[in-house]
Amino acid sequence: MPDTVESDWSTQLADIRRQGLWRELLPLQPDPAADHPQFIDSEGRAFISFASNDYLGLSRNPALQRAAIAELETSGLGAGAAPLLGGERPVHQGLAADLADWLGVEAVLLFGSGYLANLGIISALVGRHDRIYADRLNHASLVDGARLCGARLQRYRHGDMAHLQQLLARGGSGRAWIISDGVFSMDGDLAPLPELVSFARQYQARIILDEAHALGVLGDQGRGTLAHYHLDNADVAVIMGTLGKAFGVYGAFVAGSHDLIDLLRNRARSFIYHTALPAALAAAARVSLQLLRAGEVRRARLHVHRLLLRAELPDAPWLPSETPIQGLVLGDAARAMRVSGQLRELGLYCPAVRPPTVPQGSARLRVTLSAAHRREDLQALVTALREIR
Ligand code: PMP
Repeated sequence: MPDTVESDWSTQLADIRRQGLWRELLPLQPDPAADHPQFIDSEGRAFISFASNDYLGLSRNPALQRAAIAELETSGLGAGAAPLLGGERPVHQGLAADLADWLGVEAVLLFGSGYLANLGIISALVGRHDRIYADRLNHASLVDGARLCGARLQRYRHGDMAHLQQLLARGGSGRAWIISDGVFSMDGDLAPLPELVSFARQYQARIILDEAHALGVLGDQGRGTLAHYHLDNADVAVIMGTLGKAFGVYGAFVAGSHDLIDLLRNRARSFIYHTALPAALAAAARVSLQLLRAGEVRRARLHVHRLLLRAELPDAPWLPSETPIQGLVLGDAARAMRVSGQLRELGLYCPAVRPPTVPQGSARLRVTLSAAHRREDLQALVTALREIR
C-alpha cells in the first residue's frame, strides 16, 4: 500500500498511462484571419478542427459578439450572484422568454451549464424510491444526476427497446422515469423517441430528454428531436438544452410547464447555488437563437457535408448517424490515438475518444461537422483518412 498521498497519486497516474488513457490539454487559438474552423496551436501550426460542437458555426458570428460586447458594457462581466440573490438580469428573462416561444413551452429556466442542469433536474425531480430507466450511452451528466438522486438506476442497452420494455415491465416502487439523450453525444444517433413516448404512456413513466446535440440541428427551426419526429412537447416531461453547442455560446436551460420550472427554481440545488450565467452570454444567446431559428441554410450545409463525407469514404467503419456527429470506430485506444496523431501531422484536428467516455474496445475518432466548414476542409479530411488507411 502506498504510504503517502503523493505516492498514491503517482500510482494512479501510472495506471492511467499504462492503460493508454492519459489526457492532456491542447490549447488551440481560433485563427482570426479565417472564418472556417481553423485554429493555431502554441507552435504556430494551423489546424482545421473537426472537434467542435459549434455545429452552425455561430461561436464566431459577429452579430453575437456585438450583442455580448454591448451587454458587457452595461452589465459588466460576472453576474456576481446566484440568480435568486440578485444575479438575475433583464436579459436572462428575455432569453428565457425567447427560448420558451421557440420551443412552444410555457416556461424556461436558465442554468450555468448543461452538466449543472442535468444534475439539478434529476436530483430535484426524481425521488429516492423512484426508478430510472436510462440508455447505456446517456451523457455522463445524466448518469451523475441519476446517482445523485439515489433512485434505482436501470440502464438499458443502447437503443434496445425490447430491453427497455423488459425492465419497465418488471415494475417496482415509486415513479418511473425514462431518461435519454435526444442525439447521443458520442455516436451521433437519435434516440427512438416515438417508442420511448409510447412506453412512457404504457408504463406511466415520465421522460427527461437531453437535447444538447439536437437543438439547432434537427427539426423545423432547429427545435430538436421532438420536432424531428413530429412529436408533441407534452410527450415529454422535461426538455434540457445547452447554449454551448449549436448556439455557439455557453450555458444551458430547461424547458417545460410552469409547474416544472417553478419546482426547479425552488428545488434544483445546482440552480439555487450557482452564480448566474454572465449577462453578456445571455445577450449573445438571444441573437444566436434568431439565427438558429432561421438557420435552414446552415442546417442544409451540414446535411450536405455529412453526405459528402460518407459518400467519399463509403467503406470506413462509420457508426450510423444522421447528425453532424460522425463516429469512426477504431477499436483500441492506442490505435485511435495513433490515427488522431497522424491527422494532426496533416493539419487536421480530430481527437480520439476513449474509454471510459465510450465503451471498451470502441475507441474512435469523433468527427464533428460544422456549417462553417468549407468543402475543401472536408476534402482534406477525406484525403487524409484515405492516406492513413
Ligand atoms: N448533455 C450532453 C448530451 C452533452 O453532450 C453535454 C456536453 N458534452 C452536456 C449535457 C453538458 O453540457 P455543458 O457542456 O453545457 O455542461
